[in-house]
Amino acid sequence: MPRAQIADIRATPVTVPLEAPLRHSNGAHWGRFVRTLVEVETTDGCVGYGEFGGGGEEASAAVRGLLAYLRGHDVFQLEALRYKICNPTASLYNNRTQVHAAVEFACLDIMGKVLGVRVCDLLGGSLRDRVPFASYLFFRHPDAESGAGEVRTADQLVAHAQALKARHGFRAHKLKGGVFPPDHELEAYRALADSLPGDTFRYDPNAVLSVEQAIRFGRAIADIDNDYFEDPVFGMPALARVREFVRLPIATNTVVVDFQQLAMNVHHRAVDVVLLDTTFWGGIRPCLKAAAICETFGLSVAVHSSGELGVQLATMLHLGAVLPALTFTADAHYHHLRDDVIVGGPLPYVDGAIAVPTGPGLGITLDAEKVAFYHDAFLRLGGYPYDRDPARPDWFATVPNLDWADPRDAARPPGLKPAPVAP
Ligand SMILES: [Mg+2]
Repeated sequence: MPRAQIADIRATPVTVPLEAPLRHSNGAHWGRFVRTLVEVETTDGCVGYGEFGGGGEEASAAVRGLLAYLRGHDVFQLEALRYKICNPTASLYNNRTQVHAAVEFACLDIMGKVLGVRVCDLLGGSLRDRVPFASYLFFRHPDAESGAGEVRTADQLVAHAQALKARHGFRAHKLKGGVFPPDHELEAYRALADSLPGDTFRYDPNAVLSVEQAIRFGRAIADIDNDYFEDPVFGMPALARVREFVRLPIATNTVVVDFQQLAMNVHHRAVDVVLLDTTFWGGIRPCLKAAAICETFGLSVAVHSSGELGVQLATMLHLGAVLPALTFTADAHYHHLRDDVIVGGPLPYVDGAIAVPTGPGLGITLDAEKVAFYHDAFLRLGGYPYDRDPARPDWFATVPNLDWADPRDAARPPGLKPAPVAP
């Protein structure tokens, strides 16, 4: 019987540059992602990789603190892992869902390496060898250095989407909204759909519309080939009200992110599509358990992106490979990145899809030089406030939002630090 005992757990925060700062309803990604890379090493020297969002002393300490719980733990014992570090009542005091996810990824990676099989083969076997993705379109501030990359107007959005389609082959397009007044975003979304006939679309204002704004918006896009209407408002009762008046599938990645909420949505349907995030749900295996419940109760699923480098992307690819009913393209921020930390550089899109890695485990390897470079960049640049917009320092998001950004304001926000790209 194979065994692989945990001997060490390491955390390395990195920051990797984006093409341009990405705006969203709560603030922005300030021209780079900050992620924490996790390495789990066994007594035999086998290393598995994990990743989660954010980084800094607290995140690294949370990861390192797990060693006291997990030294000697056999990576094959994943249910025991779950109860050791995030049993449901202890989680009221110390919520470790995201670090559990990172360690679960690493344990699955090690299991695959020990057995010589892919993670997707450990999880039931793959039904597809490539996972199709949607373009993930953001309104963007101009790049801090070059001034390029702004997306603010409908024309800029259309040009950006068409360039991404030409480069990567996307046939589905997601607009992250909730930044500008709904009428401006409606105009942009309709222009996007008009410019790419035959493709499908999804709109996600990250829950900042009022119920009435959401109903008005949903009705105004009903003639478009929408995949779904994602988190137009916050909360299951409010989503249920929108669902009463708008004949579009409603999706969420915000209010059905655990099993209690999923049970509630089965009893009182608020959403039709559950967007599974390997980090938010605490790992790949919880996503598969949730997918089985969704399948049983006639709910659809898709693969959510909370911002990823290559390690997390690999978890999304293995999840996408095994989901039986993946009828929607997956989301990824990945194409906004200017680099990655894995050997061989960013995984390529071909015809809008990324191949599931074929090597054992997750099938990706951290590039030590890239990790060192982007760790150094993190140490120099630090984190950034995800819930602030660098162009509007006094603004903060309310739900529903009461103060939209001005779509006529083309100013380059001050204070953005350029993030370097590794040579
Ligand atoms: Mg969303």
